[in-house]
Amino acid sequence: MKILLHACCGPCATYPIEQLLLKKHEVECYFFNPNIQGYREYVARYEALKTVCSYYNVRLSGFGEYDLHAWLSSVLTDIRARCSLCYTHRINAAVKKAAESGADSFTTTLLISRKQDHEKIRTICENISGDTGIGFFYDDFRKGWKEHWKITEKLNIYKQGYCGCLFSEKERFEKTLYDGCAGIG
Ligand code: SF4
Repeated sequence: MKILLHACCGPCATYPIEQLLLKKHEVECYFFNPNIQGYREYVARYEALKTVCSYYNVRLSGFGEYDLHAWLSSVLTDIRARCSLCYTHRINAAVKKAAESGADSFTTTLLISRKQDHEKIRTICENISGDTGIGFFYDDFRKGWKEHWKITEKLNIYKQGYCGCLFSEKERFEKTLYDGCAGIG
């Protein structure tokens, strides 16, 4: 089966790619993440993913599809529900790409995260799959959480410190900066 893997960054792509290849699937990675702020952070995450894709010899596309205006227009419709809207925005793009690429199905590296809302991501993927007829390949990649850090260390790639948007950047750093001024770490 050909699977379009929406990939948010290098570290999160490691284990899912490895598992899909082990199961003899053809994999294409798609980097569509206009939620990443600022632009240098976006490039750093892409470069890490490029290293991972080279290591596993899988195709990678999507760099430069960084339409901040469209992403902001999506999430600003209901700022409190921004994560659901952000997931939906990115998964919609991945499904469109899967159709263009002739993939049998799609999935996302967001499913490896212990910090994201796993069930919400799964439901959004299932709903979009139902609406479009593009298959959704579900796997609970969280079982590879430890393994993905081992591969990340081996490849010595960039590891981001926050989810992507400015809200998450603030949440990541405000505690260390203002609770006791212990510095960033
Ligand atoms: S915290 Fe992450 S998932 Fe939520 S809106 Fe920001 S970038 Fe998107």
